[in-house]
Amino acid sequence: MNKDYTFLAPLRDEVLKCIKCGLCMAGCPTYGITKDETMVARGRLTLIKAVMEGGIDASDKYERYITSCIGCLTCDINCPSNVKIGDIIFAAKAQLAATNGLNIIEWTASRLVVGLRWPLPLILRFFRLPMKIYDWLPVKSPFDSLIPFVRNNVKRRLPDIGKRPFSSQYPEIIKTTSKRPKGRVAFFPGCVIELSTQDIGRATVSILNKLGYDVVIPEGQYCCGSPLQSLGDAATAKKVARKNIDVFSPLDIEAIIVSCATCGHTLKKEYPVLLGDRANGDYNKVRGFSEKIIDIHEFIVSHHGIPNQVRNDNYQVRNNNNQVQANRQRVTFHDPCHLKKGMGVYQHPRDILKSLPQAEFVEMEDADACCGFGGIFSLYYYELAAKIGERKAENIKRSGSRIVATGCPGCKIHIEDSLHRAGYDATVRHTVELLDEVLN
Ligand code: SF4
Ligand code: SF4
Repeated sequence: MNKDYTFLAPLRDEVLKCIKCGLCMAGCPTYGITKDETMVARGRLTLIKAVMEGGIDASDKYERYITSCIGCLTCDINCPSNVKIGDIIFAAKAQLAATNGLNIIEWTASRLVVGLRWPLPLILRFFRLPMKIYDWLPVKSPFDSLIPFVRNNVKRRLPDIGKRPFSSQYPEIIKTTSKRPKGRVAFFPGCVIELSTQDIGRATVSILNKLGYDVVIPEGQYCCGSPLQSLGDAATAKKVARKNIDVFSPLDIEAIIVSCATCGHTLKKEYPVLLGDRANGDYNKVRGFSEKIIDIHEFIVSHHGIPNQVRNDNYQVRNNNNQVQANRQRVTFHDPCHLKKGMGVYQHPRDILKSLPQAEFVEMEDADACCGFGGIFSLYYYELAAKIGERKAENIKRSGSRIVATGCPGCKIHIEDSLHRAGYDATVRHTVELLDEVLN
C-alpha cells in the first residue's frame, strides 16, 4: 500500500481514540449478520491502524472489510469516545482507491457519468431496456447463473426508471398559486429522485407550492457525491461538492430542501468535512450552503406546523395496484440512517403521519435499524444487504402495517425489494407522497 497515507494520516489521532470497548457492536448491521469482529467499527479501526503501522498489508480481505461498511452511522452515534468513525472509513476507502485505482466500471461511473453529469440522461435511457429484460427473464432458465441479484430463486426488485430526468420536467422556477405566498426555496432532488423515484420529487414540489412557496430547481446540479465517497473517489466528490455550492449559493432563497436523507446528510454534514479547511477561503461559503440544507419533514413541521389544510374527507389509501384499501390503514415509519442518525430528524415524520386522516400510526420494532441499502454497498454486497433487509421486512410484518413510510428514496427501493422477497404485500411511500394526497 502507498506508504504516505495521504487520506488517513490526518486522522491518526482519531483512530487512536478507540478504547476497544465494543459498544459499536450494538446495532452494527454488518456485524449483526456476520458476527465477525472484522465487520464492526472496532475491528475495522484495528485493521486500519495495523495497515498504517505496517503491521499488515492492505490485502483483498482488508479491502472487503473496509468497503463493506455501509456508512450507516450507528457506530458513530454509539461510540462513547466520539471517534469519527465515518470520516475514518471514508478516508480508508479513499486511500484504497488512491493506491489500487478504481476499476474501469467504477472509473467510468465516477469520473465520466457522475463527474461530468451530462451523460446521466443518456445512461438513464440506456438502462431502461436491460432493466425491463431483467424483470422479464425467468429465474429458472439455462441462463439463471448469469442473472445477478438472485437469492432463493427470487430476483431483486428493481425500481422504475423515469423516461426523462425529473428536473427536466419542470421550469427552473415553479411558482406557487397560493393566495398567501410565503417565499422561495430551492429543491435538490438528488440522483435517485432525478432518475427513478420521481413521484417523491413531484410530491415535494407540490407540497411546497401548496404551502405557499415558489420552488427553484436550478440547472446544473450534480450528484451530492455520496456514492463517490463510498467508492473512495475523493477528488470527484470534492469537485461535485464545489459545483453544487456554486449553483445554489447565488440564489435568493430561504432554504434548500431535500427529500433524500442521504443527499441531505451529505450536503449538510459531509461537505463541511470534505471542503472544510478553515485556511481555505471557501470555508464560509461551504458553511453558508450547508446551513441552508433542510429535510422536507423538518421544513414542513418546524416552519409551518402540521398544515391545517389536511383534508379529512374522501381520502382513500391505495395499494401498489392502485386499488382502494379499507378505511383506516396501519402506517409505520422506517427511519433512514442518514435522516435520524445523520440529521437528527425522527419526530417530524411521525408528527406528519399521525396527522393523516384514515391512518393509524404504529411503531415497528427497531424502526431506526439500517434497511441494508447503502447505495453502492447493496450492489457489491447484495447477499449481506438482502439479509439485513430480511430483518426490516420481518419487523414491518410484525407491525401489521400495509403502508410503510420512509424519508429516503434509497430505503424505499430496498425495503420494496425486501418485502417482495418476504412475500409481504405492503406499499412503501415517502412521507411526502402520503401527505400530498391529503393536502388541499
Ligand atoms: S464504540 Fe468507539 S471506542 Fe468503543 S470499540 Fe467502538 S469505535 Fe472503539
Ligand atoms: S457505519 Fe454501520 S456498518 Fe459501518 S461499522 Fe458502523 S455500524 Fe457497522
